[in-house]
Amino acid sequence: MRFLQIILSLSLCLTAITGDYIVFESKYSSSQVFRAFADSSVHASIGLLSATLFFTHEISISRYASVCNIIFCTILSSFIDIDHVMEAKSIYLKDMHNLKRGIFHCTTFWLIVSLLFILYSYVVKKLNIYILTFMIIIAYTSHHIRDGNRRGLWLYPFGHTPPISKFIYVALIGILPNIYAKIFTYMENGFYRHNVVNAGYKMVV
Ligand SMILES: [Zn+2]
Repeated sequence: MRFLQIILSLSLCLTAITGDYIVFESKYSSSQVFRAFADSSVHASIGLLSATLFFTHEISISRYASVCNIIFCTILSSFIDIDHVMEAKSIYLKDMHNLKRGIFHCTTFWLIVSLLFILYSYVVKKLNIYILTFMIIIAYTSHHIRDGNRRGLWLYPFGHTPPISKFIYVALIGILPNIYAKIFTYMENGFYRHNVVNAGYKMVV
């Protein structure tokens, strides 16, 4: 693992720990408005650092495209909380308090979405869709794992898991982007080699 990857992994763990402290234990935590904005900012920061860490691995993509993907992942990481507004049918924080979780907090929903995206990118052989899928995976897993420290994961129709321990949650936040990058490269090789072989075969035929 390169030096930059170690620094980014540690920064992710540190962001999760300090972010949780600021959101839930600081002197401003009693303010619902503060908590909502601080919580979204921590989700966005984790999305930003995770996507940046992902692109420090051997991923053949232009700098411009990687920046666009990092921005997308950052926005999606905090956008997931929009379903509190959808559930409350109101933008007022008092209405969003203590609501049950909306669909964007359902891990099964995102598993199905990412599976469909992977299949679609395989069929159309579009590298940008394949990369976009990993941005979606990074965004929802980081968001759900962080929320899961308090409320567990929602795996509809099987219900909720117990809350994820702080140690496991922080470790996963730091490690997962590296694992995703390895899976990405591994699958990409099979994916495109298969395509090139087929194209070559067609050309020969
Ligand atoms: Zn959330």
